[in-house]
Order: sequence, then structure tokens, then C-alpha cells
Amino acid sequence: MSVSEVSLSIVVPCRNEADNIPLFLNALEEESESKFKAHNVSLDVLLVDDGSTDSTLQVMQEQASSNRSVLVNYISLSRNFGKEAAMYAGLASAKGDYVAVMDADMQDPPSLLFRMYETVSSGSCDNVATRRYSRKGEPPIRSFFSKLFYRVINAISQTEIVDGARDYRLMNRKMVDAILELSERNRFSKGIFSWVGFKTEWISYENIERTEGNSSWSFWSLILYAVDGIAAFSTVPLSMASVLGLLFCMIALLTIVFVVVRAALFGDPVAGWPSLICVVLLVGGIQLLCLGVIGQYLAKTYIEVKRRPLFVVAESSLQDRTNEKRNF
Ligand code: UDP
Ligand code: MG
Repeated sequence: MSVSEVSLSIVVPCRNEADNIPLFLNALEEESESKFKAHNVSLDVLLVDDGSTDSTLQVMQEQASSNRSVLVNYISLSRNFGKEAAMYAGLASAKGDYVAVMDADMQDPPSLLFRMYETVSSGSCDNVATRRYSRKGEPPIRSFFSKLFYRVINAISQTEIVDGARDYRLMNRKMVDAILELSERNRFSKGIFSWVGFKTEWISYENIERTEGNSSWSFWSLILYAVDGIAAFSTVPLSMASVLGLLFCMIALLTIVFVVVRAALFGDPVAGWPSLICVVLLVGGIQLLCLGVIGQYLAKTYIEVKRRPLFVVAESSLQDRTNEKRNF
């Protein structure tokens, strides 16, 4: 009896990776020949050109028509939409029973892919994710801000964001479909992967330098990405005005009592000043409190407009209706 073939799609977001793509495909081909083929797994690669300004698209076209043992396809976006959008485009078009997301710069070792596939396909989990266990080679100031970011976001968000998690991940079809259902504009994958739930196993490895070119993340773009992440997975900042407002109102009330008692006992030496400060504090506090109330409603509206599914089903004895529900 012949064992039916299983397909694994590999989504690769690429921005200016002309030099890396052939090296990356060579490495994948080697993995396919030495490990996947023997287990009847066919690999297909989906390269997503995210508005590259070098010859990346040309290289993709050449590679797609070359005679490689792994099937190579490509999608070219009309401009640079960012890695998150490129990943979504790739995931939406990937047809495989399993889907992996990898960078083109060899920072995500292809040698781990088979181990990840074996773990997911054994059924013990729905996806295998990777994280780097050290920040070696990174400027200390960058590490400091990264750590601070993870501490803050995990304190104020209910979704766990794992420190050092990379986007390199292999998922089963169920999880990919769940991720595609989150069609929100402001995408923060590290949160989305975690939000959809499912069983995750982690593999840690030492950070690897990229082969060619430079990272497209500047310090400033990382800060903006962090702000995006916090805004996408927490509404705590919106409610901060209420907390501050309440605090100021309480201080104002206490000082009013203090000023009135003092004036009654000792008279009012600097006429008008203390009571003026009390009024300023009180009015300021009330304003902040009202702003906080608006913030609360805005937070609820924000959650609603995201239109995230209310739940994600991992499995059920009912007929599978996941694909009917997807509406885009
Ligand atoms: N990338 C992308 N669009 C962008 C920026 C990056 O598709 O706007 C791709 C890039 O080609 C690479 C992956 O995303 O395959 C990770 O980017 P990079 O290596 O610059 O980030 P880092 O590894 O430093 O986090
Ligand atoms: Mg990289």
C-alpha cells in the first residue's frame, strides 16, 4: 500500500534578499532530499516579494522556473507592505497540510525544519515555534529596551508574548486557518500566534547572524513596532487617564479637607492660594476621569472593530465547518 503524500508549504517573506534566496533554496533542497523525501513529504516554497528594490523579483522568477526538486512559487506585492503583511499574503496562499514561516536570510536554520515537522505531524502539538536563548552580539541598549518591552507588554496584556520568540514556526492547517481568521490591519504576529492558542512546543537556539545584507529593522522602527504590539494587544494605556484622574481627585479632596481645617484653626495667611490649588487639582482630576471614561468606550470599540473571532475550535466531533466560516 502506498502512503499518501503530505505537503509542507514554506512561506518566506523577502525584502531585498536577491543574494540570499538561491542559498536559502539550496539549503532547503538539501533538507528535502536528505530527510523529507524519505518520509513522503513534498516541500513547496512560497516566496513573497515585499516591494524589494533590488533584483529579488527577478531572482524569484528565475528560481520558480528552474528545475529544483522543491516546487518554488512566488507572489510579488505591489509595494513594501511590511513583513507582517507579507507573511499574511503567504499564509493565505499556502496550500500545504502544514505550513512553515521562515526568513530568507538563513537566520532560521533549515536543519531544524524536519524535527519541527516530525513533532507537529506526530500530533503531540499543533505548532512548533522557535526562540533564541541569547541576545549575544546585540547592542546592550537594544537588549535593555527589548527586555523592558516584554516586561511591560506581558504585564498589561492577557496574551502571552514570549521573549526572544522568532517568527520561524511550523503549524498544522488548523492553526493556519485560525490565524487567517484574524484579518486585523494592525498585525503583531508574536501576539497573534499566541492569541489563537493551540498546543505549542518551543525549540531554542543560539542567535545566528544573517548571511547577506543588513537587518531591515532600525532602532526606531523597533520602537514603533513595540508600540504597535502594545496597542494591538492591550487597552490598558487607554484606561490610564481614569487611574490618574481618580488619583488627582483623591489628592484634591484630601488637600481641600486639610486647607479648610487649617484655615478654621489658624486663619488663612496667603489668602486664596491653597484653595485655588485645590480647585485646579479637582477640576484637572475630573477632566482626566472623564477622558478615561471616553478611553474605556474607545477601548471597547477598538476591540469590536478588530472583529477577531470569539473563539477558535481546536477540534470537535461535529463536521468540520472551519472553511465555511472564513469569509474573505
Ligand atoms: N522582510 C519583509 N518585509 C520588510 C522587512 C523584512 O518581508 O519590510 C523580510 C526579510 O526579507 C527577511 C525577514 O522579513 O526575510 C526578516 O527581516 P530581517 O532579517 O531584516 O529582520 P531580523 O531578522 O533582523 O528580525
Ligand atoms: Mg534576519
